[in-house]
Amino acid sequence: MANLCGCGEIAKCRTSWTQFNPGRRFLGCPSFMDPTRNCNYFRWVDAPLPNRWYQGTMYQLHINLVNAQDEVVQANNQNSQTTFYNRVLIVLIVGMFLVRFI
Ligand SMILES: [Zn+2]
Repeated sequence: MANLCGCGEIAKCRTSWTQFNPGRRFLGCPSFMDPTRNCNYFRWVDAPLPNRWYQGTMYQLHINLVNAQDEVVQANNQNSQTTFYNRVLIVLIVGMFLVRFI
């Protein structure tokens, strides 16, 4: 049976990545960002993590993953910038040769 929130909508399952509840799933209102709804429906799906070691390890793994994903995005951006400037350079060099031989 689906859990309904205060608005009568089907509660959405999300995952918490806070320091004290990393990787812990919870149900919440699908429009919790909408201030006009003012729906505070919240319910944990998973039991709390057994101890601080699990909390710290799960949290650190998540932070490492987020940082690694940022680095991949930055590397891809840099790569596409480099590709762009390489193309500009090739056009300039070819252009210089053409101008020279005309
Ligand atoms: Zn709601």
